Amino acid sequence: MRYGAKTAVDDLSLTVPRGSITAVLGPNGAGKTTTLETCEGYRRPQAGTVRVLGLDPVRERRELLPRIGVMLQSGGAWSGVRADEMLRHIAALHADPVPVELLVDRLGLDECGRTPYRRLSGGQQQRLALAMAVVGRPELLFVDEPTAGMDPGARRTTWELLNELRDDGATIVLTTHYMDEAERLADLVHVIDRGRLIASGSPFELTRSKGVSTIRLVVTEPFPPTAPESLRAALGGDTEVTPINPQSLLITGPADATTLAKVSAWCEEHGVLPETLSLGQRTLEDVFLQLTGRGLEEEQ
Ligand code: ATP
Repeated sequence: MRYGAKTAVDDLSLTVPRGSITAVLGPNGAGKTTTLETCEGYRRPQAGTVRVLGLDPVRERRELLPRIGVMLQSGGAWSGVRADEMLRHIAALHADPVPVELLVDRLGLDECGRTPYRRLSGGQQQRLALAMAVVGRPELLFVDEPTAGMDPGARRTTWELLNELRDDGATIVLTTHYMDEAERLADLVHVIDRGRLIASGSPFELTRSKGVSTIRLVVTEPFPPTAPESLRAALGGDTEVTPINPQSLLITGPADATTLAKVSAWCEEHGVLPETLSLGQRTLEDVFLQLTGRGLEEEQ
């Protein structure tokens, strides 16, 4: 998918299994929304093939639309409409909608009262958009950054709802740049960066592969620029050292007593005072950092 000279999605190849929650994870501008919009039939790719439930999302759109639900990143409702009015309208367009009261209650939309859409908070607009996407009992649900701007309670409710839909047989594709969301929700994660697929697997496969764990070393003064290289040399083997910020390093490899002893010895030798030295499993954020050298929150 190109926008003028800019290639937003580049040779991306991925499959979403039925009945799963699949997360497309990547930083801002990675091409997540473009990928989803292409699958939803809003954009026609300049090259490549997209099939959704076996259908061409542009050519066979009429057939596809009743079977999918779409939650856009923003918008999708008239500015002056009330939440329940909007939801009732969308429900009326579907053959067998979920009772509106049920969704209003579940997603706390009753608190929106008579407030027009444009005056709802970001989190309330998100909840309404989610209700609109699921009210038609879609076989396949696309949700773009579903919990952006939601408070922790609304995030939990959203996660529960998406899990229940999956358990009832729906297939869900979501984009997110929250790694905890992908870790908690997704059966399968596709990590994309600059429009390309850079890793795929279950959160477990991506974070726990090959007995790899991590050591985080945070120090009181910024590291000298040569620190990652020198620490890597001291540790040897397959250990990787990735700078997270000027005062912290992520060490990936066997997080055992020998490695810890070597890290301590390196600190002593280089006059570095550790503030925190912690052991843990890799997170998806660490995986992304190792693959790209950048954090998920950073713009590309
Ligand atoms: P975000 O997390 O910020 O929503 P994203 O991963 O969804 O990001 P996209 O919105 O797909 O990323 O954008 C991918 C790239 O394409 C970005 O560099 C963006 O600036 C560019 N882009 C997106 N839409 C357009 C457009 N209509 N015209 C020109 N460039 C666009």
